[in-house]
Amino acid sequence: MFLISDLVSLLEGYLDQKQVSQIYEAYLFSAEAHDGQHRLTGEPYIYHPIEVARILAEMRIDHTTIMAALLHDVLEDTNHTEQELADRFGQDVTELVDGVSKLTRMHMESPQHAQAENFRKMMLAMTRDIRVILIKLADRLHNMRTLDGMRPEKRRRIARETLEIHVPIAHRLGMNKITMELRELGFSNLYPMRSRVLAEAVSQAHGNRKEILETIEVSIRRHLLETNIEAKISGRKKHLYSLYKKMRDQHLPFREIYDVYAFRIIVPTIEDCYQALGIVHSIYKPVPGKFKDYIAIPKANGYQSLHTVLFGPHGVPVEIQIRTQEMHTISEEGIAAHWDYKNDNPDSNHSATVSGTEKRARQWLQDLLDLQKNAGNSMEFLESVKIDLFPDEVYIFTPKGKIMEFPRGATALDFAYRIHTEVGTHAVAARINRKPASLSAPLFNGQTVEITTSPDSLPQPGWLKFVTTGKARSNIRHYLKNLQQSEAVRLGEKLLLKALSNHNISRKRFKKMGLTPVLEKLQLNNLEALYNEIGMGQRMAELVAGNIIQCCTKSSDSAGNQPKLKGKGLLWNPLSVLSPILRRRGKNHDQRPLMIRGTEGMVVHFAKCCHPIPGDPIIGHISSGKGLVIHRHNCKNVANLRNQPEQWISVEWSDKSQRNLPAEIRVTVANKRGVLATIAATISEMDSNIDNVIVDDQDGHTNAITFTLRVTDRKHLATIIRNIKKLRPVRNIQRING
Ligand code: MN
Repeated sequence: MFLISDLVSLLEGYLDQKQVSQIYEAYLFSAEAHDGQHRLTGEPYIYHPIEVARILAEMRIDHTTIMAALLHDVLEDTNHTEQELADRFGQDVTELVDGVSKLTRMHMESPQHAQAENFRKMMLAMTRDIRVILIKLADRLHNMRTLDGMRPEKRRRIARETLEIHVPIAHRLGMNKITMELRELGFSNLYPMRSRVLAEAVSQAHGNRKEILETIEVSIRRHLLETNIEAKISGRKKHLYSLYKKMRDQHLPFREIYDVYAFRIIVPTIEDCYQALGIVHSIYKPVPGKFKDYIAIPKANGYQSLHTVLFGPHGVPVEIQIRTQEMHTISEEGIAAHWDYKNDNPDSNHSATVSGTEKRARQWLQDLLDLQKNAGNSMEFLESVKIDLFPDEVYIFTPKGKIMEFPRGATALDFAYRIHTEVGTHAVAARINRKPASLSAPLFNGQTVEITTSPDSLPQPGWLKFVTTGKARSNIRHYLKNLQQSEAVRLGEKLLLKALSNHNISRKRFKKMGLTPVLEKLQLNNLEALYNEIGMGQRMAELVAGNIIQCCTKSSDSAGNQPKLKGKGLLWNPLSVLSPILRRRGKNHDQRPLMIRGTEGMVVHFAKCCHPIPGDPIIGHISSGKGLVIHRHNCKNVANLRNQPEQWISVEWSDKSQRNLPAEIRVTVANKRGVLATIAATISEMDSNIDNVIVDDQDGHTNAITFTLRVTDRKHLATIIRNIKKLRPVRNIQRING
């Protein structure tokens, strides 16, 4: 039984007295919290956290982590709160305990082991502080050591999970010792029969080979001694799980795999490593192609060693690993070996801790990079480690517990489109961790996301601003393009009917006309295409109307009309029927203006030069490819474009509900502190939003501030202007005309 006193003496080996007594306090708190709880094995619960702390202390991990290890189940299994922990042990320890608890919860909530790969990545991604993973691995290791009391199927489930999730993480972090133990325990609990048979075979084989092993070891030791290299030599135990995997994957019988003699040689320096290699090669002939220099080119997890295989006595292969003590420690403990516990600063606040952790993690990466200075692909390698440790992905649960991967910055709407295009198209809102959220809410690791849909809801142009995935983006674009087309068709129809009404052709009459001749002439397939081109400003409605009168009124219309038109020499005169600027509106009652509601969106635009708002006298300009652009009458650009009368049509605001449109005002103010804030507050009190603010320093005493704000109409804007005028520092205010 490993007691708290044993832990304390282990800690005293590398921590100072103050740190050890802090750890002891954490122990007292945890023991009290878990008082009365027992493990399945029957022993008091507190033995478990002590054992977890011990595993970490054996790797000489910093005292904060050891404290968190002792407290790691307190939040999950007792009534104590984060606040209590924070008050007693500080933010650092609490963050770690909280991190471990989150992983535990996540575990219980996610069912399918088929997603082990994603789950593993998520564990790493969710953990800002890698020490949380260290505690979790130690926790799992002790749980695996004590599976005995459990029902067989539960043991198998936990064992499988360990092999699929924890073993690869431990391996990735280079923690060989924990990796091996977790693997062996996983194997014997997942396949108890197979592992027992294999263990039996191993012990039998071992007995037979004792003599030959000794011969080899003695021979190597003697040769190394002759060259004055201080070496530790040990026979390596073959791990059951790796034997099993080789037999299974390579379809080889036990004898062939097991009949390999394996030794590890540990020497003081790198130079000694290569010298020792030369010596063993001089004792037994090396097997060609088997030498590997992982010192020059370390493995992805930082592992370094020389590997070679020799032809031993009777031609039996002998595997040799040669490395320094430092390399050995790193290969056993991986990232934990790089843990600089002396740099652990107990006074650091939360944010400093995060960056401190990052710094340490980066240091670890740097160490790995240094280790492989001579390797050619170091950047590539560094990238792979970085991706594993700090992935750019977030992992999200569906309500059914499936894990989905998204790029960082993805939003609930990206999630909606990932579920199904239809879900995205009709998405209304989201629920993140069962709480209502907007579709633009960014997603974070481990969240469970649901999407609320409504058949009436459709994609908005603004959606493009907050989706990041290609699928969502292309689906929204596609939809908007179709929408633009159908809007253009509707606008085109309106424009054409209006133009025809100027020639006294009613809607009713037009609908009865045979339009094939004009469509043929214009080389269009159907009427919709014609409307679309008019709506997009690619054809002038008046010209088309002229064409229609020319081509289509012959047969259906009374014969008297046409000679009259022909006699005029011109079918119609654009200047006479168009340009509401040239011809005062209202003069001619058949030239009714197009009604603008402000909600049209895709083919009706509001000019950015003059920002028209309801109540302003307006006019529409049809420009190719853009559709209809609404300007104010007094806009400079209207005057500039006067020479293209055929592109102007008369428009008016409809009384129906309108959206808030932007308007620009320029305010000249005395240069005083807080002026901007005062004006902004006044604007928002008037139920208006500010889109943009530009401040120009004029002469040091005054500033000119330009606000772009949203208003419902002229009256609304006038009220705002009046209220701003009342403010003390305001010298002058005016609306900006285009
Ligand atoms: Mn635990």
